Amino acid sequence: MYTFDVCVVGSGPGGGIAAYALAKAGLKTGLLEAGPPLRAGIDYGKHAMPWEVHEQLLNGQWARNSAFGLREQNHFTGVGDRPDHGWLKAVGGRSLCWAGHSLRFGPKDYQEWPISYDEMAPYYSKAERFMGVYGHKDGLSNMPDGEFLKPIGMRCGEHLLKRGVERMKAQGAKMEFVQQRKAMLTEDHASGRARCHFCGQCSGCCVDAKYTSANTPIPMGLRTGNLTLLSDAMMTRILTDSSKRRISGVEFTKANGEVDRVNCRALVLACNSIETPRQLLINGLANSSGQVGRNLTSHFGLNVQGYFPELRDRKALDDECAGAYQSLLTGLYWDKPSPKFQGTYQVQCTAGWALMDLPVRGIKGYGKSFKRELREKCAGNARMNMQGTLLISSKKFVDLDQSRKDKYGLPLSRIHLFYEDSDIAMAQDMVERCEDIIRAGRGEVIASPGKVTADKLMIDYNHWVGTVRMGNDPKTSVLDRFGRSHDIPNLFVGDASVFPAYPEKNPTLSNIALSWRMSEHLAELAKKGELS
Ligand SMILES: Cc1cc2nc3c(=O)[nH]c(=O)nc-3n(C[C@H](O)[C@H](O)[C@H](O)COP(=O)(O)OP(=O)(O)OC[C@H]3O[C@@H](n4cnc5c(N)ncnc54)[C@H](O)[C@@H]3O)c2cc1C
Ligand code: SF4
Repeated sequence: MYTFDVCVVGSGPGGGIAAYALAKAGLKTGLLEAGPPLRAGIDYGKHAMPWEVHEQLLNGQWARNSAFGLREQNHFTGVGDRPDHGWLKAVGGRSLCWAGHSLRFGPKDYQEWPISYDEMAPYYSKAERFMGVYGHKDGLSNMPDGEFLKPIGMRCGEHLLKRGVERMKAQGAKMEFVQQRKAMLTEDHASGRARCHFCGQCSGCCVDAKYTSANTPIPMGLRTGNLTLLSDAMMTRILTDSSKRRISGVEFTKANGEVDRVNCRALVLACNSIETPRQLLINGLANSSGQVGRNLTSHFGLNVQGYFPELRDRKALDDECAGAYQSLLTGLYWDKPSPKFQGTYQVQCTAGWALMDLPVRGIKGYGKSFKRELREKCAGNARMNMQGTLLISSKKFVDLDQSRKDKYGLPLSRIHLFYEDSDIAMAQDMVERCEDIIRAGRGEVIASPGKVTADKLMIDYNHWVGTVRMGNDPKTSVLDRFGRSHDIPNLFVGDASVFPAYPEKNPTLSNIALSWRMSEHLAELAKKGELS
């Protein structure tokens, strides 16, 4: 049995930063993680050659390169349009394999939140400095600049996409084309992590140049002497007093099946946006609003591929860079919403000889002609990957599947996803816009979904948010504006399930900034004696 001031459950980006911030504030903190520790470059991230990666992708052996190959299987039930759910059970969670894209949400993105961008700005700055984020200062109105390490630049094909965007802007189109911002080191950094060597294997960085929970906040938390990490420890029950208004601790099951217990004055759930609501529903907690599991949203998308003949004879170069997407089409519908759909989208762009993106499928024949065309298509290709926000509606939610249980006897989550007219209209707009950009850049469209239908859409199963949302009204939200339960004053949430609305931007930087803010608030309450 263990006793801590605070128990944090889940060691991904949300839980990792909470554990660090709480331990640094002097609170005795326990960090419970269902999975084992994995070693960068040993258990994952093997620097395989690009053609090996492709082969491994085809035969399902991706685990050697990307920790994500080790993700859970058969751990949820899907209803509707092919939902999926990424769960990497390991110390660091999915930060081990994330791509590191780190974009601030802007002032407009916070309009439906109980907090403003100005309140969040200092936490974004702290998070960027702590993680090490490279980027270019673009001065955009709704994707504010951060505290950046020096940027990397774009590939040739990406510059030609930018040319297309500039031409369309000159005719009145409203959009921006900028460099990506990623949590990877391009300069020496206080964490002592290595600098990026541009090998492009970022879904499992073998030298820890990419920020993960396992390589920065957890070791720094452990060094305070206030943090205890319990790995291979799956929380299987939340313990409360008889009124269910106060958490007293949690039960967890070890890898050998033994059950143990943590007593704590406060509990932080950071299990991810599907697992946190699942745990609250299983335990029947914090749901007087009926909103646990509701308001589910994510990003979804499609790809459009272009080819720029003027790059055909370009020398074969190592285009791997710091992972695929080095540029971003953004600024769409920020000022004037579309009359055809709700929300916004962004498009992540990549180009060139990054062989994971081989345009090989469209090439016919074999031998010399195949090789020549492959060389030309690789030199001149550019790929545009849409990331649009799913409409929040009553058709998208998480509940429990009482007919299927995990190995601990707990019901699995059930994810309900149905694409709606607004989602399809957004994707159609993106496809047409990307095709226009490629042509305006003097390229050819070589692969496109054409007319969009629900069966062509792909969900981003790593970007779910919103299922335990924050708000000022306890009747319509689960948490207050700091991520503290309205119903249970010593229960907090530190993952992206707290988002009450979702822009087109990637979630994790905001998740980390919010969890840091929540943790400082929790530490303040503890200091004032409000948790005992
Ligand atoms: C390939 C890939 C690329 C990505 N790229 C980006 C990107 O570029 N930018 C971006 O913003 N996001 C990206 N993401 C998404 C990002 O990784 C997630 O948003 C983020 O990891 C979520 O953090 P989290 O702490 O909520 O959850 P997770 O990372 O899922 O961590 C949750 C942890 O909790 C543990 N856990 C769950 N239940 C229990 C329990 N009952 N007891 C104990 N432990 C438990 C899990 O094992 C896990 O370790 C990417 C993800 C993947 C897989
Ligand atoms: S490109 Fe940089 S961040 Fe990505 S895996 Fe290689 S060293 Fe790590």
